[in-house]
Amino acid sequence: MHHYGYYNGTIQPVDQIGVGVFDLGLLRGYGLFDYFRTYNGRPFQWDWYWTRFQNSALRMHLRLPLTKDQTYKIVMDLLGRSNLEDAAIRFVLTGGDSPDSISIVKPSLLIITEDIHPVTPAQYEQGIRVILDDYVREMAEVKSTDYKRVILLAEAIRGARAQDVLYHKNGEISELSRSNFFIIKGQRLITPNRHILHGITRRTVMQLAQEDFEVEERPVLLSDLYDADEAFTTSTTKKVLPIVEIGDLTIGEGKPGPKSKYLLERFDELVESW
Ligand SMILES: *Cc1c(COP(=O)(O)O)cnc(C)c1O
Repeated sequence: MHHYGYYNGTIQPVDQIGVGVFDLGLLRGYGLFDYFRTYNGRPFQWDWYWTRFQNSALRMHLRLPLTKDQTYKIVMDLLGRSNLEDAAIRFVLTGGDSPDSISIVKPSLLIITEDIHPVTPAQYEQGIRVILDDYVREMAEVKSTDYKRVILLAEAIRGARAQDVLYHKNGEISELSRSNFFIIKGQRLITPNRHILHGITRRTVMQLAQEDFEVEERPVLLSDLYDADEAFTTSTTKKVLPIVEIGDLTIGEGKPGPKSKYLLERFDELVESW
């Protein structure tokens, strides 16, 4: 077994960790998480991921049981035990055991390492197709463990030979199920500013793009898609992944465009030297 995990003070192989049956995460779906990875053995954008995790915890009224430094030490310990050059790290913070199945007493914290499941080169070369869904995530700025919408949509996504779903509400686009959304029009790079999880990859790409693009964070409407030259999605595992079809609409020429490729190259350069 490669992977070890920390659960409420104890480090064990992940397959030996037992989670409480009275945990609000299990009984009420009350929990949040974060997910990041290493490059060259070092956690990528650690400060930003930690701040987001802290912010999610605060909004969910869950007290973090560890400080930033304590958590970093545990992460490095688990990475050492995994014996992998690079790994993903998942934090899960739940309501914890509850005497009456509703009150929060002591949140539970799980930290595990996982294998990285990178996007295939073929997907970067061909781009992905997404379906549209009229939906907006509840408490969108929290990385909550509630993903029932996309799990329920799995069949519809497969049936459309698509890879994911793009959420919109009242004509306004927010994000994909687990990643953020961008369009390119000329030299303008445009991304939704609300009803989203503030992705660390999104933030990194916006920073990298500053030199060559005019970066706009603003409401993005479905009607904005008609004259978009390119579209792509960003996340920790997807990096910068081109989107070539959205519902019935083909974006640009139906293949990944040069500007998305350029931003992926800039991102790859950054992580190579991380
Ligand atoms: C994790 C996630 C993202 C992407 O965030 P990254 O920090 O770039 O991985 C975007 N939207 C949702 C809903 C997410 O859960």
